[in-house]
Amino acid sequence: MAKPLSIAIVGGGVGGLTAAIALTRQGHDVTVYEQAAKYMRVGADVNLTPNAVLALDGLGIGEAVRRTGASPTFRISRDWDTGKETSRLPMSSAAQERYGAPQLTIHRADLLSALADAFPSSQVKFGKRLRALDQDSEGVTLQFEDGTHASHAVAIGADGIHSRIRAALFGEESPRFTGVVSFRAVVPTEKVKAVPEIEAFTKWWGPNPQSQIVTFPLNLGQDTFVFATTGQESWHEESWTSEGDVEELRSFYRDFHPDARALLEACDSVLKSALYEREPLSQWSKGRATLLGDAAHPMLPFMAQGAGMAIEDGVVLGRCLLGDDPQAELLVYQHARQERTARIQINSRGNQWMKGQDSADWVYGYDAWHTKLT
Ligand SMILES: Cc1cc2nc3c(=O)[nH]c(=O)nc-3n(C[C@H](O)[C@H](O)[C@H](O)COP(=O)(O)OP(=O)(O)OC[C@H]3O[C@@H](n4cnc5c(N)ncnc54)[C@H](O)[C@@H]3O)c2cc1C
Repeated sequence: MAKPLSIAIVGGGVGGLTAAIALTRQGHDVTVYEQAAKYMRVGADVNLTPNAVLALDGLGIGEAVRRTGASPTFRISRDWDTGKETSRLPMSSAAQERYGAPQLTIHRADLLSALADAFPSSQVKFGKRLRALDQDSEGVTLQFEDGTHASHAVAIGADGIHSRIRAALFGEESPRFTGVVSFRAVVPTEKVKAVPEIEAFTKWWGPNPQSQIVTFPLNLGQDTFVFATTGQESWHEESWTSEGDVEELRSFYRDFHPDARALLEACDSVLKSALYEREPLSQWSKGRATLLGDAAHPMLPFMAQGAGMAIEDGVVLGRCLLGDDPQAELLVYQHARQERTARIQINSRGNQWMKGQDSADWVYGYDAWHTKLT
């Protein structure tokens, strides 16, 4: 049991809520400050690979995510035009045996609900958009856009890719538009059941690294999720909910294999968003504050590890922050997480992993509950 600290977590997303549960279990007094007025059913898929599910299992969330998540049968890579299979990894029960947990594909809102149910709602303060952070050797003070402020012993920046805490700690620096845009659509599986192995996670590798189509089951397999990316020179709008054009989507991939095109033909509507990233950060923790998830290491989605890395961060932070020497413990957390997240950021950018017969073990076989804390 830790020496109890008063901890502020800014951002009630996937990483913030995971850390909130992990730190509360250690006996800390945790308050989450979230800018939204309430949890909303925004976004679509989140891909939880075995490393993420194992981390959630240890927090007691595993059963809840299994109730709504689908468990893809295989992870298959195919060439975009010929459809030739270039790699195949058994998932589901095979992943359970090899890694101790399956892969689950789940609606982001269902994952957030499972996390929110495991943390006292009275400890979540909605409508609190962070503006600034000050700290001294005794504690941190948070200032919010509504003019209020709050003081705590430690602050965690789990406020996503445009993190205010990151800017307060390490200076302003905008994330970089990668020149890649993504389309997300959800299709009733009934409409695409003729596509072979629709219950698998399939990646159609395009003619260049920006271009790909990924599909997998969602909502217990009742729906099929379609995620497609392509290069685009510029982007001006920033949102998870911008409407895209299905005709534009189909035209980008008109030369893909008929099975891939059949999935796009079945889309009635599509969301379009830009992909942003940042360089790996040399420092995450400063004094009594640190970062986690996208605030620390936003990454391209090509390895499907954005949510998984935020979840692993939350669990490892919970193990490190024991309250005896918060400043030193936040550095232990940073050192425990930096190498892995930077490697995944860089490999996600390269977008070659699992195109051929690569090993998935270094990604899927990580155990956040037992990894060494240096
Ligand atoms: C609305 C939304 C929809 C998304 N949809 C998808 C999706 O469909 N598929 C996918 O793969 N990924 C999606 N993501 C991203 C995905 O959740 C993250 O990449 C990943 O889970 C890492 O989690 P995170 O906790 O670091 O960041 P996020 O999950 O982005 O959480 C950050 C949280 O911080 C809050 N916040 C931001 N700034 C402030 C501030 N100044 N003060 C207080 N709170 C603040 C945000 O409202 C958000 O709740 C979405 C993110 C958001 C915010």
